[in-house]
Amino acid sequence: MTQIPPTLPLRALFDAQHSASRQQIDVPLALRRDRLGRLKNLIDQHGAALSEAVQADFGVRSRQLTEVADLFVLRAAIGQLHKELPHWMKTRRVATPLYLQPASAHIQRQPLGVVGVIGPWNYPLQLNLGPAATALAAGNRVMLKPSELTPHSSALMASLVQGAFSADEFSVVLGGADVAHDFACLPFDHLFFTGSTAVGRKVAAAAAANLTPTTLELGGKSPCIVDASCNLDEAAVKIAHGKLLNAGQTCIAPDYVLLPRGQEAAFERAYTASVARLFPTIAGNPDYAAIVSDRHQARLQALLNEANALGARVVDVAPPASTNESGSARQMKPTLVFNPSPGLKLMDEEIFGPILPVVVYDALDEAIRYINARPRPLALYWFGTDTAARDRVMANTVSGGVSVNDTLMHVAHEGLPFGGVGESGWGAYHGETGFLRFTQQKPVLVQSRFSMGHLFYPPYGRRFDQIMGLLKRWL
Ligand code: NAD
Repeated sequence: MTQIPPTLPLRALFDAQHSASRQQIDVPLALRRDRLGRLKNLIDQHGAALSEAVQADFGVRSRQLTEVADLFVLRAAIGQLHKELPHWMKTRRVATPLYLQPASAHIQRQPLGVVGVIGPWNYPLQLNLGPAATALAAGNRVMLKPSELTPHSSALMASLVQGAFSADEFSVVLGGADVAHDFACLPFDHLFFTGSTAVGRKVAAAAAANLTPTTLELGGKSPCIVDASCNLDEAAVKIAHGKLLNAGQTCIAPDYVLLPRGQEAAFERAYTASVARLFPTIAGNPDYAAIVSDRHQARLQALLNEANALGARVVDVAPPASTNESGSARQMKPTLVFNPSPGLKLMDEEIFGPILPVVVYDALDEAIRYINARPRPLALYWFGTDTAARDRVMANTVSGGVSVNDTLMHVAHEGLPFGGVGESGWGAYHGETGFLRFTQQKPVLVQSRFSMGHLFYPPYGRRFDQIMGLLKRWL
């Protein structure tokens, strides 16, 4: 293993990784598994410290939320990568068409080289180390740039990775938007970005200058359709869970609800009861996460103020506060917003907080048209029992992913590709899809000494025309 000083400048670090990746192109299974093992050990041994760091970053964020949404998901992903690698790395034989026989063909799966990963703050362990683990499993070198908004967890990840990996294998680069910009300008073999659509555009532009292929895991407004056939009490608790996990700071949180007209009062009752069931108190409740920063909270408050000012009905659905409650000022109360007018920022921007607008519809086609008139969402949710209505929604909308009669859960299925479409991103990962995202699938044709290829060589004449005539009849 080459010894590289851990704190190289950005470009020197990239050059070291690049040169190492070109010196060892064939990365054996044992080394890939060893790297995964080191990452898993790091999570197992320092899970509590990592969880505390995330808590310090948010002010309030429960250990259990980090346990399930960050650490458990990471362990499951690493476990699957470790188990499936021998199968996923294998060369695939491909059937050869008659006119090329007796040649044979196969697809060889190779590492791309150096992968850059830029991550967000909302699930800082899963969304940084998850893509990094997949890229390492695919045999790549990895440079990771986590978010500056989670300084404790980003710094801890950097020091743990530095202790377990050589810098030319896997390194964490710390810094703000300026460092992130320079990072995105490096000529990676692949750049994997998770974050907002606005920054995603900048990342795609920077990568284009190097012809670096990108995966963009972005955000957007994910609709939740409540069908007329839906049991509101059952649906409301799942919608509230999806919306309020991490206080709405989840890329696939249901952004707004589409509700059949006339069900507003029933939905308000069911949602309020569900919030009280999940979070009997808000302020001071360690299970209810704080908004990550004052700036983010001010943005959310401004969305609510504008909605109020422009005639929407904003309903505070937080359970009544007990007298001795005192929590973080950033534990923002959950709200429902009825009659949001289309011009509101709330109906235009991704919310990313505990505010749930409710848009009513008269006929299902109207709800479908509403979704299709907007950028394609990262996730779509449908609640109901009418399978014909469900199939109509599935056939007539395009989204990054779907959970039926639940929220969020499709992300937890490692067998399903996870990613966006259109403005919610491009490229997907998780499971074998993720492995292939960071893999060159190299097609190889092996010619036979009995090849008939010479029959197609010039000089062209009668024999060529006869063979082409024969082939035309065959195909
Ligand atoms: P963000 O776009 O503000 O920042 C993400 C990362 O980009 C950070 O590490 C930041 O330092 C970096 N960055 C900032 N400016 C940059 C530039 N010019 N060039 C390159 N990188 C730059 O996003 P965020 O606030 O950290 O995360 C919230 C957003 O991420 C939401 O929109 C959410 O929906 C989305 N998100 C998407 C997924 C997904 O899987 N699709 C998951 C989580 C979050």
